[in-house]
Amino acid sequence: MAVQQRRNSKTRKAKRRTHYKLEKPTLTKCPSCGEYKLAHKMCECGEYNGRQVVEK
Ligand SMILES: [Zn+2]
Repeated sequence: MAVQQRRNSKTRKAKRRTHYKLEKPTLTKCPSCGEYKLAHKMCECGEYNGRQVVEK
């Protein structure tokens, strides 16, 4: 079994984990229906990059 060399403090652990955070998704407005949508994703109305890609 491995034996730990030294114990890291709570502060040290927390400081290491400051980089572990949730990123907010980038929301953009759909130019055709005005709904918020995820960037680089097709909108609910089936439009992507000013073009109808899926018929609804
Ligand atoms: Zn839309």
